[in-house]
Amino acid sequence: MKRIACSLLLTTLTLMGCQPAPQGDAQAPAAEPQQTHQWKLVTSWPKNFPGLGMAPERFAEKVNAMSGGRLTVTVYGAGDLVPAFEVFDAVSQGTAEMGHSAAYYWKGKAPATQIFTSIPFGMNAQEMNGWLNYGGGMALWREVYAPFGIIPLVGGNTGVQMGGWFNKEINSIDDLQGLKMRLPGLGGEVLSRVGGVPVALPGRELFTALQTGAIDATEWVGPYNDLAFGLYKAAKFYYYPGWHEPGTTLEFLINQAAYESLPADLQAIVETAAQAVNQDMLDEYTTRNIAALDTLVNEHGVELRQWPEEVILALREANAEVMAEQVATDPMMKKVYEHYRAYQAGVGRYHSISEEAYNAIRR
Ligand code: CA
Repeated sequence: MKRIACSLLLTTLTLMGCQPAPQGDAQAPAAEPQQTHQWKLVTSWPKNFPGLGMAPERFAEKVNAMSGGRLTVTVYGAGDLVPAFEVFDAVSQGTAEMGHSAAYYWKGKAPATQIFTSIPFGMNAQEMNGWLNYGGGMALWREVYAPFGIIPLVGGNTGVQMGGWFNKEINSIDDLQGLKMRLPGLGGEVLSRVGGVPVALPGRELFTALQTGAIDATEWVGPYNDLAFGLYKAAKFYYYPGWHEPGTTLEFLINQAAYESLPADLQAIVETAAQAVNQDMLDEYTTRNIAALDTLVNEHGVELRQWPEEVILALREANAEVMAEQVATDPMMKKVYEHYRAYQAGVGRYHSISEEAYNAIRR
């Protein structure tokens, strides 16, 4: 009866042109003060850089919107607050509450960090997401970062990257002798093993380094990001596929004390926004890479080349040696790598009769 009466009253008010106040307002506590949190997020990318740099921007937008302004995140590009390669320390020390970067930049902190980004001849994006989110990979990542007071979250995936930009054709392993190439992480170790010289440089320095001859070659990400840096103006040969980074996972780093200072709902918002951005980046690269590749080849005369089989076989052999050495020197590296490889073997077995089998018949 009460409901009917209310309903009649509402109808009458509406007919009279009076809008009843929204029900929520009457029940909300009277002007209860709510604590707000202002976080700084430092990144290893130029501010608003396409792809990589958009993940932290979109994360900040989502968190600001979902929290109704209770948690606001301000994004800083590389060098704005701290340099690209000091993101980890800045978050660990609390200079910034958050960071967005790639875990393999921190191999000097702990060798195992490299496995959470991408490893040569390792898993692709779909498989990395499976391992991290359902396969136990994330628990290991948290274990590796815990001594530094940092909590990692997934922060995007580029998919299979490109093999890089070269001033000359690479026809045999001899062509890599003495070649100075920007190649981070374990890929660099593998290059070194076959006679090349790996160099670590942040993205914003790549074009100048390549153009001035400070380096002979570089990889970066894939067509969409490489076009944005104009790397085609400094080198002509563009090799595929990126054997060294088959499914690069980006990361959000969170200062543990800052995270623990948040109420549970804001913690959930941070984690959910990171997951959303993780998928969003892969979807954007999937869409934009092919258009960028067409522009590179058709408008800028880029020469697309597949790695010769001889070179890939030598790199794969060198990779096995590098990984055997890496796991022998660091117990955590061994633990994470063995876990990763066991997952890759299982998922690889299934993907050989699903993804790979399907790709082979749809052409
Ligand atoms: Ca790369």
